[in-house]
Amino acid sequence: MTDYLRYFLILLSSKAALISMGFVVITALAWLKYGAGSLSWGGRLRRSGAVNVGLVIFNGATLGLVLYATTVLLHLMQAVPHVPEGFWLGVPWIIQAFAALFILDFTNYWLHRWAHANAWFWPLHAVHHSDTDLHFLSSQRAHILEWVVTMPLVAGAAFLCGLSVEGVAFLILIRELHQFYVHSRLDWSHGRLRHVIADPRFHRWHHVDLPEAHNKNFSLFFPFIDMAFGTYYVPGPAKGLATGFEDNPGDRLVPLLLYPFRSWAKLASAPRRKRSSMQAMD
Ligand SMILES: [Zn+2]
Ligand SMILES: [Zn+2]
Repeated sequence: MTDYLRYFLILLSSKAALISMGFVVITALAWLKYGAGSLSWGGRLRRSGAVNVGLVIFNGATLGLVLYATTVLLHLMQAVPHVPEGFWLGVPWIIQAFAALFILDFTNYWLHRWAHANAWFWPLHAVHHSDTDLHFLSSQRAHILEWVVTMPLVAGAAFLCGLSVEGVAFLILIRELHQFYVHSRLDWSHGRLRHVIADPRFHRWHHVDLPEAHNKNFSLFFPFIDMAFGTYYVPGPAKGLATGFEDNPGDRLVPLLLYPFRSWAKLASAPRRKRSSMQAMD
């Protein structure tokens, strides 16, 4: 067995373990909150779930691209002045964890905001927004090329701040579990803590396809970052509001994988003036 195949199988089984854990916890919470009726998965939800699992497999098989891009960038950044790793040694672990999560989320906030504002980046991120039936597996809906762009930059920011690779990997794992939760069908608010840790209602509003909800709630973990930059928007419950976007390729794996290329071809052939108006719509 080649090293790559072995690595892929390890990755896939850990992902399957994570998904199973997410499924059990979210299902239990939904059952407690809404009763047994909330546990049934209709046809549309099943189709969406199947596409998201398909993307988990496809992205796992091509994750080497992300690792390669990250390795190249980190190698180039060795020459850039940065905080030494020893800087964090005497700092209590709870402050370290909070600071690291903040650095990751702050970097992610601007990358996410850029993904919505830039006409060429949007088609990659649009794949994540294509789910019209948001559920916990929607967190897994992403185009591998979006990760090729964003993950090296997030790793680069962590490196500049002197964070250890192992520590960041652990935090990303925690964040992944939290992403299951915020994409779930639980329309929960954290009440007084709603500005401190993102809840499902906060992130669902990010996906809602209404003009007033566009370009809002970019942070993944800390909503106070959105508050600081004027992009926080949670006017009330979001359950039942449509998610997705116009020109959505829907729940079909191959059209989703090809969507960025189709969009780029359209953008490249569009006159300059039309291009900027398309960007404004995102
Ligand atoms: Zn987004
Ligand atoms: Zn999302």
